This record gives sequence, C-alpha cells and structure tokens, in this order.
Amino acid sequence: MQEKGTISIHTENIFPIIKKFLYSDNEIFLRELVSNAVDATQKIKRLSSLGQYEGELGDLRVEIAFNEEAKTITISDRGIGMTAEEIKKYINQIAFSGATEFVEKFKEAKDANELIGKFGLGFYSAFMVADKVEIQTLSYQDGAEPARWICDGSTEFEITEGSRTERGTDITLYINSESEEFLSKYKLQEILDKYCRFLPVPIKFGTKTESEPDGEDEEGKPKYKSVETDNIINNTSPIWTKAPADLKDEDYLAFYKELYPFSEDPLFWIHLNVDYPFNLTGVLYFPKVKNDFDLQRNKIKLFSRQVFITDEVKDIVPEFLMLLHGVIDSPDIPLNVSRSFLQADSNVKKINSYITKKVADKLSELFKKDRKEFEQKWQDIGIFVKYGMISEDKFYEKAKDYALLVNTKNELYTFNEYQEKVKSLQTDKNDQVVYLYSNDAAKQDAFIQSANNKGYDVLLLNSPIDSHFISHLEQKLEKTSLKRVDSDVVDKLIVKEDNPAHVLTEEQTTQVKGLFEKAISKPNMKVEVESLSPDELPVHVTMDEFMRRMKDMAQMGGGM
Ligand code: ADP
Ligand code: MG
Repeated sequence: MQEKGTISIHTENIFPIIKKFLYSDNEIFLRELVSNAVDATQKIKRLSSLGQYEGELGDLRVEIAFNEEAKTITISDRGIGMTAEEIKKYINQIAFSGATEFVEKFKEAKDANELIGKFGLGFYSAFMVADKVEIQTLSYQDGAEPARWICDGSTEFEITEGSRTERGTDITLYINSESEEFLSKYKLQEILDKYCRFLPVPIKFGTKTESEPDGEDEEGKPKYKSVETDNIINNTSPIWTKAPADLKDEDYLAFYKELYPFSEDPLFWIHLNVDYPFNLTGVLYFPKVKNDFDLQRNKIKLFSRQVFITDEVKDIVPEFLMLLHGVIDSPDIPLNVSRSFLQADSNVKKINSYITKKVADKLSELFKKDRKEFEQKWQDIGIFVKYGMISEDKFYEKAKDYALLVNTKNELYTFNEYQEKVKSLQTDKNDQVVYLYSNDAAKQDAFIQSANNKGYDVLLLNSPIDSHFISHLEQKLEKTSLKRVDSDVVDKLIVKEDNPAHVLTEEQTTQVKGLFEKAISKPNMKVEVESLSPDELPVHVTMDEFMRRMKDMAQMGGGM
C-alpha cells in the first residue's frame, strides 16, 4: 500500500505560522498529544463495554518516551488506532481544512490559543516543536492493516504500510533544533506533572527505583532491595471525580496535601457537583491563612475532563474567591481557553455565580450547624467573607446573616446581635448608632478602657482589609456609623444617666488641660481631661475624626 497526495491549502505552508504563533506556549504540544492518546484509550474501553469490541483490552496505558540521540519524543497508546482511511479523514482532511481557515483568520486574531481551540488543531501543535511527525497505528477493527503517516512540516504527507503489530498508535516527533530543551527527563516530567497529573488513564514515563522488603538478614532485621518499577506519573481518579458520599475528611485532606504539599491543613472545603445547566465538578478549599500578606492568588487549578488547562481562573471564579485553593473541572470549558473567550462565554458567567452561591451557602450551613466551631474559624475565614462582602452585593446579602464582629473582649456577634447590643447606649446627636472600633488595641488601650468604663463597646477591626470593610459597612448599615475609639466622637455620644462623679475638681481639670495643650501645641489635636474613676487615665489626646481619616488615607496612599 502506498499513497501520496497534496494537501489542498491556499497557503504554501501553514507550519511556520503555527510555530510562530504558538511559540510562547509550545509545551502544550505534549498535553494535546497525550490527550489524544487518552481519548483513543477511553474510546476502546467504551467500545469494549458496549460489546462492540471483543478483543483483549490489554494493559491500557499511555507511554511517553524520548531518545536524546535520535532527538525524538514518542507518545504511544493502546487505544482504538486508525486505519489509513481514518488518518486521511481525521488527520489530513479535518485538520487541514481547519488549518486553511486558521491561516485566513490568523491575520485578525490576537490570541493564537483561541484559534487552535476553535479549529481543532490539537494534533498539529506537534509541529511547534517538531520538523517531522510520524504516526504508526493499527486500528482495533477486524482485519485492519497497520498504517504509517509521515509529514515533514510541508504540505506534503505520505501514507504507507505501517509496522505496528498491536492495536493502538505511536506518534513520533522529530524535535526541531530550537526545541531540544524538551529532550530532557526533567523537562518532560515537569510538563507531564503540570498537565497530565490527573488524567483518567495511567501515563507511564520511564521507570523509577523503589525499595522493596526482601526478607531478613542474619540478625533478623528486615532487608530491602531496589527494584525498577514503571514511573506512572498520574492519579487516575482524583477525588473531584468521585461522589461526595464516598469520601471521608481524610480523603479531602490527603488530596489537599497532594496539590499543595507544604501547606497547613485547610479549614474546610466545598465539593462542587452540577450537571445542569452546565457541567462542573471540583473541590474548593478554604486555606488557613496566617496573615493577610500571606494570601496567595491563582491557587485554583482549572481542568477540562481531567486535563489541566490553567491556573488563571479569573472570570470563572469570583474575584474574592481567588484566594481559595482547589480544582474546578468543566468539560464545558474548552481545552484552549483564552481570556477573551472566558469573558464572552455565558457558561462562565453562570459558573461564576454558582460558585458564589455555593460558598455562601456552605458558610451559612457551617454557622447554623455549629456556631462555636464557626466562631473558632472566624479568625481565618473572616478575611474571605469580608472581602466577598465588599466586592459582591449578592454575597453581602447572604453573608450579613453570619458575618461576625469581634470586640476587644474577644466576644463575637452577628450584625443583628451587635446592633441590638449597642443601639441603646451608643447614639450620637443625629440619632446615629455609633460603632466604636480600635485598629490597634495595644496603642489605643487607654481609649478602649475609657470607652468601656463609660459602658461602650469597642470592636476590633485591625486587619488591612478592615479599613475597606469599615467604609463598606457605613454604606450598608442603616443609621449607623463607625468611629475610631481614639477620635473625638466618643465624648459626644449620649452619656448614660448614672455617671459616676468626677474625681478631679473643675479647677484641677482646667489646670491639667492647659498644661497638656501647651506641651502638645498642635491645632488639630484635642486634649480632654476627665476622670470618672481613680483607676482611669484622666487625660485623652484625640484627633478630629475627619482629620484622622485624611491622615490615614494619605498614609495608605489609597487603594488596597
Ligand atoms: P481533536 O482531538 O480536538 O479531535 P486533534 O487535532 O487533536 O483534534 O485530533 C484529530 C483527530 O485525530 C482526533 O479526533 C482523532 O480522531 C484522531 N487522533 C489523533 N490522535 C489519535 C490517537 N492517538 N489515536 C487515535 N486517533 C487519534
Ligand atoms: Mg486533540
């Protein structure tokens, strides 16, 4: 059997274009070829289970091998294989007709990844790194003949009789001189770890040495021997593909460790599982955060049918949940996503609001189920909740029922509880309820004590996100304002009737006040002298609330 032909295409040669356009991301060739091998393997499994294939399935695995001297990389599978006719149909015709269009469209496009996805040029991404590509394949069909296809990157291809004796396909890439970096064990392992770690079919890449028990020595101590075993690089059934009912906490924790080996255990997780109106599975973890500066974005990995796509999940995951960790898998997100695609896609918008809702509901469930535990976790989840409340109204509406405010005595209140607690005590002349807060309990200790002595409560709002949270609460809470405990507002609050008598006389007060004013001599600082009890600090130096905010803003330089 021998057949030669010319691919009908308007442009002389599309490969220089493919190469040029995809160069920045050329490692995806391996993802594309391994995905094809996995697809072919899944197809033979399906045919077998449907009774349409009666032969032995054999050891279904995909194998990646490379030869540094020959400068080749080979991807082999035991999938359905292809007949010569199928090669012409699936490799030549479809891809090349797609490629023709690709060539025509590429002029306008800014994002080549988007094009590759659209035109199904997955197989052709091989030409980003190879001068020549060879297919050796044997179809599963009865009486099929092995076929070989070879193409040197020109528009000419050649199909001849092949040499494969077992069902399946080998794709051999003759790596070009610019891409020799891929002819390395470490480089290939790295790419496989990135894209293929959770593929559903075992992927073998070389061998590894393991130590195995080997009886006992003369003294009765256990002996070990080194054995070479296949290096299977992937976990074929990651937890997000399983039913939540079949999983224990340990499974979720173990998977977290698999994804982020050096992290502390997460606080809790959410198993996502929808099949309508879009398909999506995944597990999102709330990480334990030591402080706000530790926050790491882009820790969520996006998959499509267990193939890693990206950890740029912006648009799919709401902005405020970018701090979460975990995985999302949706076949409705194509392999080759691009920013412009994501923004335009209606599924992506639905996925985004679904995730927000799931997270809000999970938090509500935790709060209702065990308030005590929720309070213990608040220290860590508060940051996410506050960030969410600031950035998304829909989330605010749900979270306002369980978000907690913490006071300087370390008591925790819901918004409603807190309003009830302070409304009768802390009102100003304009009938506004005033929440006092401290952003530095150590520095403002004297002010906190003094406010407490007057019967006022002081909230502790001292994380970087709190300055934004405070302004947000002022907009959201009706007839309520938030004032820092060391501002001059405290004294303007309506004071309770049963005030204890002053310890200092009026004359003493004026004297002390004068002394302090002279010593400080700053026009925007105010000196108050008043002592309600002997153990209270009698002198307060305050700054006008407005001036204080201006100063804070200048220091922050605005923005987060
Ligand atoms: P897609 O995977 O999106 O269909 P590709 O360009 O990656 O596009 O592959 C084109 C087609 O070539 C596949 O749909 C499949 O029919 C065939 N093919 C590619 N690789 C293999 C393989 N290893 N075994 C069997 N068929 C394959
Ligand atoms: Mg493909």
